[in-house]
Amino acid sequence: MLTEEIGKMIKGEVAIDEKTLEKYSRDASLLEIKPEAVVFPKDAEDVKKLVNFVAANKRRNKKLSLTPRAGGSDMTGGPLTESIVVDFKHFNRIRMIGDDCAVAEPGVFYRDFEKETLKRGLILPTYPASREMCALGGMVANNAGGEKNLKYGKTVDYVEEIKAVLADGQEYVLKPLPQKELAKKIKGKSFESRVYREVFQLIKKNYEIIKKARPNVSKNSAGYNLWDVWNGSPAGDFDLTKLFVGSQGTLGLITETKFRLVPAGKYSGLLVIFMRDLKALPAVIDKTLATKPASFESFDEHTFTLALKFFTGFLKAMGAANIVSLGLQFLPEFFHVLLHGMPKMILLAEFEEESQEEVNRKIRELKRALKPFKLSTKSAPDEAASRKYWVMRRESFNLLRHKVKGLKTAPFIDDIIVRPEYLWEFLPKLYEILNRYQFLYTVAGHVGDGNFHIIPLMNFDNKSQVALIPQAADEVYDLVLQYGGSLTAEHNDGLIRGAYLKKMYGPKIYALFRKIKNIFDPQGIFNPGKKIGTAGLEKLLYKYLRKT
Ligand SMILES: Cc1cc2nc3c(=O)[nH]c(=O)nc-3n(C[C@H](O)[C@H](O)[C@H](O)COP(=O)(O)OP(=O)(O)OC[C@H]3O[C@@H](n4cnc5c(N)ncnc54)[C@H](O)[C@@H]3O)c2cc1C
Repeated sequence: MLTEEIGKMIKGEVAIDEKTLEKYSRDASLLEIKPEAVVFPKDAEDVKKLVNFVAANKRRNKKLSLTPRAGGSDMTGGPLTESIVVDFKHFNRIRMIGDDCAVAEPGVFYRDFEKETLKRGLILPTYPASREMCALGGMVANNAGGEKNLKYGKTVDYVEEIKAVLADGQEYVLKPLPQKELAKKIKGKSFESRVYREVFQLIKKNYEIIKKARPNVSKNSAGYNLWDVWNGSPAGDFDLTKLFVGSQGTLGLITETKFRLVPAGKYSGLLVIFMRDLKALPAVIDKTLATKPASFESFDEHTFTLALKFFTGFLKAMGAANIVSLGLQFLPEFFHVLLHGMPKMILLAEFEEESQEEVNRKIRELKRALKPFKLSTKSAPDEAASRKYWVMRRESFNLLRHKVKGLKTAPFIDDIIVRPEYLWEFLPKLYEILNRYQFLYTVAGHVGDGNFHIIPLMNFDNKSQVALIPQAADEVYDLVLQYGGSLTAEHNDGLIRGAYLKKMYGPKIYALFRKIKNIFDPQGIFNPGKKIGTAGLEKLLYKYLRKT
């Protein structure tokens, strides 16, 4: 058997026992796909051997492939496969932390990485809401983003270098190359030279259509990021890291990343804004953004209701030793609902400043700016006071995954983005669709970017309800595209959205994506069926809908 051969070849382990295969058949998506084996390489040499082995055995077994996995918290089916999963758990070393950067392996969990960077007063500010579950490899491969995007941008903005094993079984360093170095690089006959030459030619030849196809939103993880590799200028650097970040393990296997870090904010606090209707939302967004918050987040009435309903779970997520005393922290929210009714949306404007006085001043400034809208607001000027709101924002999806009996979270429209100025018109249309389908759902997200995470709760045994998923996805995605948005701002395409890429970008850009995949991975070694050639949602649900 092929897996036995792999076991003899590498220093790491190979698992084919039922328990392991079952564990690796799931991520946080609504799909479940059982792999043939899970491999745990020990080092880059093991990874190279794996790639060479698959390349050499493709003729014997056409479907043989390698699907990388880091924390396994992907919501799109990105790390799922019927062939071999490559788990990077042994790649758990932080190589160095400098004055403004760090080098680390893809299996390092973000939570562990942050502990170490904070010792130097530094942070990688693009951590996702899944910060307790995800690892660096997945953050890079998904181009993850989170609550601090507004101020800091996404993971792609913090990746300086990537080490990766490419399809020829060699490890390479990808980093920005000045044109002179690029000219040298593309002259050679090696696999690496061919990759650089062909990607450069593809971008040069199609520069204008690539530029036009860039979604007009502040964040995008859909497709391959062709836009930022080269700016078209004869003096512009050529940077393949931009293409690799967000490519979901379809171009090669990342073995190390150098990240740029920023100083961690010293003082932070929130103004919590309760909105009873959404008419004033665009104006409220404008006024809030003008005060330059570090983040501007939101969650809806359903999330809030569930937080109140399952508040013991939320308290646990807050690390509450004394549930009773922390339970009291939610009393003001209960009273708020009694007094003012259920808010439609709750907005969190976070200020991160050099002093507590400055945080307080910013909160006051925003309160003043919002006065004409007669909204109910609440100051949470420090970390302790802010914590419960962050838990509701960050943990709602995770708690729903474990809490609601008989119903499962169904992330299939989980990451849409449109420009914030369209929200006043876009959101009522979105709610009309969701309500028509009679889904129970929560909406939370990054309101400052116009990025929303919609998580329906469904009974997967109810076949007629499951049959609505592709229809609802079609309608919501059509609406997002009407407003020039992107189908995924941060979570990426995976299996769930891959088939929508052609609709989003059109056949010409999709053909370029296909060429990119072929340049890097002509044999289809890396994570096939993601980005290119993804099956439709209906077929995927029929074959792989999660049972457990
Ligand atoms: C509760 C919850 C909240 C979430 N919130 C957010 C959010 O706010 N923002 C956000 O962006 N995402 C969010 N996600 C999605 C997901 O957690 C993130 O995208 C995260 O960065 C994925 O990291 P991971 O380590 O779990 O990756 P995995 O799930 O292991 O993998 C993700 C992708 O990366 C690829 N990959 C992994 N390792 C490598 C490697 N070494 N080389 C090449 N490719 C590799 C995989 O093949 C897969 O396609 C959330 C998920 C959950 C469950």
